[in-house]
Amino acid sequence: MQQGQMMDRPLMISDIITYAAEIRGDQEIVSVRVEGDRHRYTYADLAGRAAQLAHALRKLGIGDGDRVATLAWNGYRHLELYYGISGIGAVCHTINPRLFAEQIVYVVGHAEDKVLFLDATFVPLVQKLREHLPASLRYVVLGDDTHGLDGALAYEDLLAGQPAAIDWPSFDEKTASGICYTSGTTGHPKGVLYTHRSTLLHSYGLMAIATEVGLTPTDSILPVVPLFHVNAWGLPYAMPLTGTRIVMPGPKLDGESLFTLMDEEKVTSAWGVPTVWLGLLAEMRRQGRKPDGFDVVIIGGSAAPEPMIREFEVDFGVRVVHGWGMTEMSPVGTLTTMGPTLNALPDKERRRFKTGQGRRMFGCELKIVDEAGDRLPHDGEAFGELLVRGHGVMNGYFANEEASAVAFDAEGWLRTGDVAKIDAYGFLYIVDRTKDVIKSGGEWISSLDLEGAALGHPAIAECAVIAAPHPKWGERPLLIARLAEGQTTSPGEVRAFLADKVAKWWLPDDVVFVDDLPHTATGKLSKLTLRERFKDHVLPTAAD
Ligand code: ADP
Repeated sequence: MQQGQMMDRPLMISDIITYAAEIRGDQEIVSVRVEGDRHRYTYADLAGRAAQLAHALRKLGIGDGDRVATLAWNGYRHLELYYGISGIGAVCHTINPRLFAEQIVYVVGHAEDKVLFLDATFVPLVQKLREHLPASLRYVVLGDDTHGLDGALAYEDLLAGQPAAIDWPSFDEKTASGICYTSGTTGHPKGVLYTHRSTLLHSYGLMAIATEVGLTPTDSILPVVPLFHVNAWGLPYAMPLTGTRIVMPGPKLDGESLFTLMDEEKVTSAWGVPTVWLGLLAEMRRQGRKPDGFDVVIIGGSAAPEPMIREFEVDFGVRVVHGWGMTEMSPVGTLTTMGPTLNALPDKERRRFKTGQGRRMFGCELKIVDEAGDRLPHDGEAFGELLVRGHGVMNGYFANEEASAVAFDAEGWLRTGDVAKIDAYGFLYIVDRTKDVIKSGGEWISSLDLEGAALGHPAIAECAVIAAPHPKWGERPLLIARLAEGQTTSPGEVRAFLADKVAKWWLPDDVVFVDDLPHTATGKLSKLTLRERFKDHVLPTAAD
């Protein structure tokens, strides 16, 4: 083959921040700080401080491949860490503070972190864990002082006096830039090591759909999805690349705080998991309006329930984009991008597509297979295990051969652990997680679809469906629901409500009401906890 004659410049994360500072230097970044105030500066300031941080890290002896950890909310200092660390060839390890204590200790040890940067909020947590963390680990508290953390440095002292300019080094684009650990519902968390190349290509993928999700210089984006959760869906890179205004919420993620921030800062595009939007919607309902300027909400991480999509779009005029992805894939895989044909459909029909997880992002391919590993048609009917491959998809877990050995099929595609169908338009519909699907007499029942239908009931605020053991069918669905405030209903009434919405043999054998449902470190319903809690639950039908 004839080689082309173009320069072979490596794809570097530092190019994003340099570009943003030059081209969008005056664009604003607003951050709610743990100090309680609202901080404002620009992309030019961000680039300058990332450079100062890079110099400071080098002084601390941080260099090629060293892992540097963060325990922080969404704010400008966390963004500086994203760029300062990877820019010098070190690896940014964002730790999810909602992991169990022993998991935090595990990931710090497994990643062999050298320095931990933490928000003042997390000083008590670190003090508690300290005796279990490596003695050599250094601590930097993100602020003006160390908040009583022995031996720690204050971030602002670290940066002070460092030059605000840097000649970012250029190196192999396949160099590791960041690491995220899955929340590890079973076993230890597993690490996914991103490269500069995968990160840039993933950002370009988001740029291909920029106007649909509000990634433009006239938009103000609110990343509610944390910077400590799978690269905040790629936003820390895609926002500077496209020059959006950034509004970061800090630690306050309740509906009222989000509403006020969005309203005052005129946020146009907000990104987060469904649980967060439950809170915001409650506040929108209470005030009878949406935050001023709110145009589009990006919902992902777990399935966006149909009533939530309807309420945003019909009651408040906020466009919904629903997305799917996973830590192992940078993380975005699909988004409900539309087009002339689908946009021309009546609202209700168009909305139906949004209950699915959307179409693949550029750079990511999807396939569904049967139990023998043979490809299934994209006809919207056939469903099977979902596999992916692409620029942003990992090729193995970090220092974990055991998990890596079973993560791929013979063609090298990544097994997602999800069961899905794909329709003729290329829309993906997640049926369930492989381990959550209910296997009733050899047939599969989708816990996700059942939950979606049950959420249509006005008295149900949140619910989960899990498999309960059944002597005849093996497993049968058990619906566990949290009621909306002041509402009542009964198991019989809920079953009657579902009767014309799902197949008769899908109807849950029992409905249980609880005060609270357990969530994972990433805000998803923890079915593992529920299965454990209800392991001795006897279905009324099991006695027959
Ligand atoms: P963790 O496993 O640490 O919570 P991930 O973000 O990697 O974090 O989880 C990825 C999984 O989340 C997917 O494999 C899928 O099961 C689920 N998921 C993500 N987005 C959606 C969505 N829109 N609808 C249904 N499931 C989703």
